[in-house]
Amino acid sequence: MVTTEEMKRRIRTFAEQMCSEMEEFSVSAEECWLAAVEDMAAEVGDAVATTLVEGQSAVHAQEGEADCPKCGKRGRYRGTRAREFITRRGPATIHEPEYYCPCCRKAFFPDDASDRR
Ligand SMILES: [Zn+2]
Repeated sequence: MVTTEEMKRRIRTFAEQMCSEMEEFSVSAEECWLAAVEDMAAEVGDAVATTLVEGQSAVHAQEGEADCPKCGKRGRYRGTRAREFITRRGPATIHEPEYYCPCCRKAFFPDDASDRR
C-alpha cells in the first residue's frame, strides 16, 4: 500500500480525534470488546475508501481524449455520468467521462469495461 509519511500522520490525527469523540464502547458479556472496536474501525476504513473512490473518480472524469471502441475515431467529450459501483469496500457513486462518437452516433464510456467490445 502506498501511504506517504504525511498521509500516515493525517490518518493518525483523524483516528485520535475519533477516539477522543467516541463514548466508551459498551458490549454485552458475550461480545469481545476488542473485536467490536476492530469491527467499527473496519467500517470507518470502508467509508474512507469509498469516499476516496468517489472523490478520485470525479477528478479522473474531467475532460480528456478518447477514441471510439468500435470505429477508433476520436470521440467528443460530453461531460460525466454518475453510476453506482460496487467496490471491494462497498457501494460508491462514481463519475465517469462520457464521449460521443459522431460516426457510430453512440455514446461511450472509456472507463466502463463492459463498453469495450
Ligand atoms: Zn465510432
